Amino acid sequence: MFKQDLDIFNILLSAVSEGIIIVDEKQIIVDANQSAETMFGYDKKELLNKPLNILIPSNLHKVHASHFKSFMSDNNTRKTRMERVVFGVRKDGSDFRVELVLNGFTIYNKKYVLALVKDVTDIEIIEQENAHFAKIFHESLNEIFVCDAKTLKFLNVNYGAQKNLGYTLDELKLMTPLDIKPSYTEKDFRISMELLNKENIKKLEFECAQIRKDGTIYPVEVHLQRSNIGNKDVIVAIVLDITERKNYTENLEQTVSQRTEELKIALRAEKEHNELKTKFLTLVSHEFKTPLSGILTSTMLLSKYKLTKEQEKRDKHIETITILVNSLNNILNDFLSVDKIETGNIQYTSRTFKLSKLVKDVVYNAGVLLKEGQEINYPKNIDEVSLYLDENILELILSNLVNNAVKYSSENATIDIDITQNNKEIIFSITDNGIGIPKKDQKHIFNRYYRAENVKSTQGTGIGLNIVKNHLDYLGGSISFKSEENVGSTFTVSIPNINQK
Ligand code: ADP
Repeated sequence: MFKQDLDIFNILLSAVSEGIIIVDEKQIIVDANQSAETMFGYDKKELLNKPLNILIPSNLHKVHASHFKSFMSDNNTRKTRMERVVFGVRKDGSDFRVELVLNGFTIYNKKYVLALVKDVTDIEIIEQENAHFAKIFHESLNEIFVCDAKTLKFLNVNYGAQKNLGYTLDELKLMTPLDIKPSYTEKDFRISMELLNKENIKKLEFECAQIRKDGTIYPVEVHLQRSNIGNKDVIVAIVLDITERKNYTENLEQTVSQRTEELKIALRAEKEHNELKTKFLTLVSHEFKTPLSGILTSTMLLSKYKLTKEQEKRDKHIETITILVNSLNNILNDFLSVDKIETGNIQYTSRTFKLSKLVKDVVYNAGVLLKEGQEINYPKNIDEVSLYLDENILELILSNLVNNAVKYSSENATIDIDITQNNKEIIFSITDNGIGIPKKDQKHIFNRYYRAENVKSTQGTGIGLNIVKNHLDYLGGSISFKSEENVGSTFTVSIPNINQK
């Protein structure tokens, strides 16, 4: 019977997964099961009759001795004591965490202690990992929410979320995601959760707005996932505040559209520039062709008038050639002026000169253009007026306006030049009663190469007024006009009066 009991006891001993070590009151090991052997790395015979200390790290021997003494000193030896997490040492010297349950008992008047030993290294690692994950959860700068899938109430919310939203955890625990997502209804949320129930949808991502306790709203990117705590279904949401990303994207979009607009404008300008160039070349070649063929005709005819009495006819042709060469010269000058203005290559040279001489020259030069019966009136009482300016530029300005007045007026028309001055400025106005400028062309008239619709049969380049305006801008002056189609035009130029110099 006794032998049978012992066998049963031995079977039990070896079947238990915990290590069992029995020591007598002097802490000598009297028995150990298979699990204890494996756990400590000893054979049973290496353990038997050895002091328990071989299984305890040497630095803990003292503490252990006093624990053991107090355990044994208690008369009631049939008792249990549990000691969580103490250290054991293996045969190879490595130590490890164990959980101990001590049971005292007495057989044949001898006291023994049975120690139930559990290796808790794995448990400890898991606990450490859990603590680490909890730390990550709380310290994450992203917002992390866990809410009950049924009631939607928040179960846990990390510190990052509490901080950004301005709510405490206690406050949040009474709330649901709907309280912080103003544009989201419960129905929307339930639909999202239904989607998450589908097998192939593991995670949902969407952008929406969140509202803080102080009422401010910010954009977020939400990552939703289903999970469970025990048997409770939960939803885990990781929420990223994307205010900066949004700002960055918005700025980027703004810059891109701004640059695109600038590019469009530049392309348009480039296109206009090319069109103008083509137009200009066509105009110039046309402008050159007519006078050149005129010159050619006149020289051809000149060679035919050989007789002395034909001098008058020769003179007529020489005059025609002179006019045409002058006209070519003017076109060329205009063309060169455009280039100079464009490259900023103009040097103004001011000096004092008599206005009357300049006006006379302008009128005289225009004379060759006059049609039958045309007349230019100009003030004769300006002998005393001296100006301090670039004389050539003023002559160019006035010539352009007077020549235009002549060109765009019919036979027998009169052109009036008026000059007034005060302390501040000197004002020239050139009036004709010619063809005038159509209303719709008026705002473009100073644009380079622009010519009104009603002058297409008259030669011209559309450069003159543009040059005049550019020069006046440089000189601090201005030009304006009043014109009515078929009635006439008045061009008025004002230049700062610095003749006192
Ligand atoms: P253009 O060589 O064509 O005369 P301008 O630059 O001098 O070039 O003048 C531009 C346009 O302004 C002319 O083509 C014409 O349509 C208009 N214009 C200028 N002066 C007058 C004027 N006195 N009467 C009518 N139209 C004018």
